[in-house]
Amino acid sequence: MTNGFKFGGYKGQMLRVDLTKKAVTKEPLREDWARDFIGGAGYSARLLYDEIPAKADPLGPANKLLFMTGPVNGTMIPAASRSTACAKSPLTGSFFHSIFGGYWGPELKFAGYDGLVVEGKADKPVYLWIDDGRIEIRDASHLWGKNPFKAQEMIRQEIGDDQIRIATIGEAGEHGVAYAIILLDIRAAGRGGMGAVMGSKNLKAIAVRGTGSVSVPNVLRVYNTALRLNQVVETNPAVMGLSEYGTPRNVLSMNAAGILPTRNWQTESFARAEGISGETMKETVVKGHRACFACSINCTKYSVVPSGKYKSIINGPDYETVYGFGSICEVDDIKAICKVDEVCDEYGIDLIQASMSVAWAMECYEKGIFTKADTGGLDLTWGNADAMIHLTEMIGKREGLGALLAKGTREAAKIVGKGSERFVISNKGVDWPGHSCRPWPGTAVGYATGPRGGSHHDIRPTLEKSGAVDRKVLEGKGAMAAEVNHWLILADSAVVCHLAEPIWGPAKVSDNLVDALNAVTGWNLNYAEARKIAERQWNMIRCFAAREGFTRTDDTLPIRFMEEPVPDGPMKGSLISKETLEGLKDQYYEYRGWDKKTGNPSKAKLTELGLEFAIKDIC
Ligand code: SF4
Repeated sequence: MTNGFKFGGYKGQMLRVDLTKKAVTKEPLREDWARDFIGGAGYSARLLYDEIPAKADPLGPANKLLFMTGPVNGTMIPAASRSTACAKSPLTGSFFHSIFGGYWGPELKFAGYDGLVVEGKADKPVYLWIDDGRIEIRDASHLWGKNPFKAQEMIRQEIGDDQIRIATIGEAGEHGVAYAIILLDIRAAGRGGMGAVMGSKNLKAIAVRGTGSVSVPNVLRVYNTALRLNQVVETNPAVMGLSEYGTPRNVLSMNAAGILPTRNWQTESFARAEGISGETMKETVVKGHRACFACSINCTKYSVVPSGKYKSIINGPDYETVYGFGSICEVDDIKAICKVDEVCDEYGIDLIQASMSVAWAMECYEKGIFTKADTGGLDLTWGNADAMIHLTEMIGKREGLGALLAKGTREAAKIVGKGSERFVISNKGVDWPGHSCRPWPGTAVGYATGPRGGSHHDIRPTLEKSGAVDRKVLEGKGAMAAEVNHWLILADSAVVCHLAEPIWGPAKVSDNLVDALNAVTGWNLNYAEARKIAERQWNMIRCFAAREGFTRTDDTLPIRFMEEPVPDGPMKGSLISKETLEGLKDQYYEYRGWDKKTGNPSKAKLTELGLEFAIKDIC
């Protein structure tokens, strides 16, 4: 294998850049960690547990930013496009893995590295140029303040190659907006504020050119595995809908089922959902499809609004955008949503978090907590698309009310008070994606206990939503959530895309995921061994949080979900009361072998998983 590394799929080498010392080093990937934590989120959690001191300032030089691939990433296995950007998050204050697709991750591997650790802080704006084995730290003073697309264009011109892959931050990342993103090709590391961490290091961009390849022990075995898994993709109706309409494919069916979150989650039915559906998108703005590396699903749409006040060109919008800036703000104009999507990308901010901040402000305005004196004259009435776009620009610039919202809704509500905490739809500082949980107790406990709070990629609603599991039964839902956690974290360590859920999920670590890992690495993992790795990864992330001081009380849901039942529609009356949630948490901790009082992994569990080194920190 490459660099004499024992296992297939890996390059066997990590790149480390210390921006304070302007030092670049190459170091071996640890074989024991590769076997115990795979790569991506799992490997990153293990490495950053050792290297980021407890209580480090997320935006200080002691925090580290780790871009990590996995063994499957960069091979022909379907949807093997993904990689992770990991750090201590300025939003949550704990370990965060932000997943991204596109081409940047595979390119890093082709350049010869499984991962890139960025540490310290440059004394002025810089960008990294990784050209296979040659690494340069270049001046980026002229790029600072440029939007990510402009910065990418300028770097491509400087280097004289329009095929290189570039990760870039926008103004939001430069200014420490807590939910700044990193833009990479057609996708983004969108959640958890990884762009703010990158900006805090004065790092504007990372350009990569890789001309190598990924070695596997038996190409024919990988080819046959990819062929078989691609057949699952090509014949699954859910995936076919994803190809045709993108992730907004289910807007109308979700609305009909009463699970399309609306008006900052005051209800879950939107009377004007037609305007933001995948079908409307396809008819009015979508001009083409975009695929990530090795993915035949093509879920990303390329949309153009050619003229008028909403003139824009974007890769998207995704479901989370049409939810957040659509039904959540009661806006039904898909062109306005394209425009606000473009604004978010140009400033480099997380669409979900930005839209939920705007919705929180709209509800404050509805309830009289904000007046035009607070909003800079903006009329934040539900459905006012122009005000929504304007306020989003203010977040990007950190101007007026935008400066408050740039802190995230949880922090904004702490400052404003007056009962506005009730309108915060967040857990651990991360605002909610467009997936309901009031009707689904297993999903609810998954959200509550998830290390990333409001993340629909620490839990999936598929089992309860599809009826495969009786949604009204509480018993067994803690175990269900834990097993769903396992397939998700293993996928995030391999690294493959969750949207190909029919291949990798939805109930537990699937044989397909184990087959893909074995084919690429040459391992012979069985189901129990793969599940154990996933359990170890999940516990590792929990140890990080526990060391930062997180406890059982941080595993919670938004007040609205615990106290305000869905008021109308098919899910009318649905609610996860505080009492129900606490019972579900007991189930979850017990199934995991965690201490019910603290929510921390027990000594016995840590010993069983080979995580004894964390006992002194959290037990
Ligand atoms: S399903 Fe979509 S996001 Fe996932 S790898 Fe394929 S194109 Fe990219």
